[in-house]
Amino acid sequence: MDTLLHSVSLTGVDAPLRESGIAVVGNLPWGSHFCQFYATRQDLLDIQLPYIAAGLAAGEYCLWVTAEPLPADAAAEALAAVVGDLGPYLRAGQLEILDQAQWYTTGGIPDVERVRRKWLDRLADARQRGFAGLRFAGNTCGVAESNRSAFSAYGEALDHLIAGQSMLALCSFYLPGCSTVDVMDILSTHSFALHHRDGGWQVIEHTEQKRQEAALRESEARFRVAQELSPDGFVILRPERDVLGRIVDFTFVYQNAASARMNGTDAEVVVGRRLLELFPGLRGSPNLEAYQQVADHGEPRVLEVHYGGDAIQTPTWFRLAVVSMGKDIVVLSQDITAHKQTEEELKRLLARVKRQAAELEANFTAIADGLIVYDAEGNIVKMNAEARRLSGYDHDESWQPPPTRMRLRQMSRTDGSPFQWEETPTYRALLRGETVIGETMVLHLPDRTYWIAVSAAPIRLEDGTTRGVVATLTDITPLHELQEQMKDFVHMVSHDLRMPMTSMKGHADILQERLTQAEDRQARRSAEVIARGITRMNVMIDDLVEVARLEGGQRRLHRQPVALAAYLADLLARNAPPLEAHRLHLDLPDDLPPVCADPDRLERILLNLLTNAQKYSAPATPIGVQARPCGDAVTIRVTDEGRGIHPDDLPHLFTRFYRAKGERRADGIGLGLYITKLLVEAHGGHIRVDSAMGTGSTFEFTLPVG
Ligand code: ADP
Repeated sequence: MDTLLHSVSLTGVDAPLRESGIAVVGNLPWGSHFCQFYATRQDLLDIQLPYIAAGLAAGEYCLWVTAEPLPADAAAEALAAVVGDLGPYLRAGQLEILDQAQWYTTGGIPDVERVRRKWLDRLADARQRGFAGLRFAGNTCGVAESNRSAFSAYGEALDHLIAGQSMLALCSFYLPGCSTVDVMDILSTHSFALHHRDGGWQVIEHTEQKRQEAALRESEARFRVAQELSPDGFVILRPERDVLGRIVDFTFVYQNAASARMNGTDAEVVVGRRLLELFPGLRGSPNLEAYQQVADHGEPRVLEVHYGGDAIQTPTWFRLAVVSMGKDIVVLSQDITAHKQTEEELKRLLARVKRQAAELEANFTAIADGLIVYDAEGNIVKMNAEARRLSGYDHDESWQPPPTRMRLRQMSRTDGSPFQWEETPTYRALLRGETVIGETMVLHLPDRTYWIAVSAAPIRLEDGTTRGVVATLTDITPLHELQEQMKDFVHMVSHDLRMPMTSMKGHADILQERLTQAEDRQARRSAEVIARGITRMNVMIDDLVEVARLEGGQRRLHRQPVALAAYLADLLARNAPPLEAHRLHLDLPDDLPPVCADPDRLERILLNLLTNAQKYSAPATPIGVQARPCGDAVTIRVTDEGRGIHPDDLPHLFTRFYRAKGERRADGIGLGLYITKLLVEAHGGHIRVDSAMGTGSTFEFTLPVG
């Protein structure tokens, strides 16, 4: 607040009063512009002399413009008689006594513009050199009659200039040379006048004017404090016109601190200066055009202007409100850069959000799967065309609440049992926060049935609450139809194809028996080849059927606890041949827990691994069967000392129809290990292989403890 008051006091009327040095006047505020009517040299000495002397004493810069009957040297002499030696004042640049011609005129005519500039320069200079302000006294005597109107214009200009500055001005007029009109003119452009009457000096001042001035000063003081506090710029500009009345420039009458900060000037120094002189860049600008229009037509204008935004200046935006105030205009400027930047940022964000929304909408529409978005109550918020096709909901139906909607469609599981709303993936995601993936449902529409795989996931907010659910629906009806065809095919293969094979095998066996007796070796070998071929074909058909059943989910396991030691002994006894029992080395601890397995399927697993171990190793080499408990499971290993498996083949060994590169044996179609893996996994276990070329292979699988 101190700083503010200080800065206000430089121009404000609440500044400390100045001692005028004139007894009838007393103290004066800065900005006072008054005059004296004189007739004699003594009159001038009475008023000008004590006035200048008081200024010197108060540390002000004093400018005394003199004329006959008190020329400069006489004035200096008189002043020295009062204040002593003038030398120190002159050397310090505190005092200047000039002749009238030096100051006002070029060839006797006052050059208002030039004098105005001289004032401003002197004031700035005085302030810079630390003087309290500027005190001026000037005599207009000797000015030709014809120039008086020019002087009147000058007086008016001076009055505007002084207002609001730390300046005092005293103008002395030679009364015998003034007409009544002149006196009226002079009185109107000065705060008060001093007049010598009845042997003393009197102040001519209208009491009403005095009261109004006091009120004005008070309201002006309030106005200034408000303006200095305001974050918005406030400038009063006075239009300058040429002889044709066209505006050629504006003069600063007032500028507040915020405006000075905005345009980088000193608030007081610009007062009295021309706008285009200070800011030549404004020429031809929309701002200037608006100022001119408001000054000429009085219609207020609001405009936004933008500066900078280049390599040198950061971008700034201002909102200018221009209104007319008498013959002046007021420009209110508001720095809206932050507001503009936020607006720009918002625009950018909005464009981005719109773009993303459009992309999302395009994805939503174009996606091949059905997509449904539900709100937290399970109502449908959005669904794409595929979802509409699969659900069969028309526009009205889709907006129904969940229970009503569910009643419109019948849903069932793959085994035909009905689906309740609470069990659907959407409901589970919504109420239990579950993420459900690929649950198969059968949807019964009036005219057809769809098999669909449904996935659903909750949409969670940052605070963990569920906002809704996104569900995808994949039409798996074609897949289901394919599976049905596959079932038919498996049925056909296992029955229709196996029947003639069984009969062929029977006949081949009879032939073999008969031909043994007939001793026809060639015919007997042929019968043997036929029988072996039929057996191999049977194995292949079994494998194909097994794969189809396992992949189609038709194979059900009948699990029970299986004690491995007894189970293996029985299996070897029942399968010798093809198993070569003498090559097998069993390693099972006594306390081995039973496993939980389907005995028939386990036989298939072990026979596949043991026959492979036999097939792919030298005849006499041993084959190890080891079982070890491992947590909740038992690990079973089948190890051979055969040729091993090439590292390139290892990653593909358990895939469908894969046979090692260069494999020539004709008795397999690459389904054995694939089936083994499917069966192990159906039991909840897993299988892996370790192998080294030339050393042998170990197949290891796990089964849960029974
Ligand atoms: P196949 O029924 O043709 O034998 P598998 O799926 O049982 O098919 O085996 C796939 C391939 O893995 C075989 O072609 C064979 O090359 C290789 N293989 C399987 N077991 C062994 C093993 N113990 N030693 C070496 N190679 C093996």
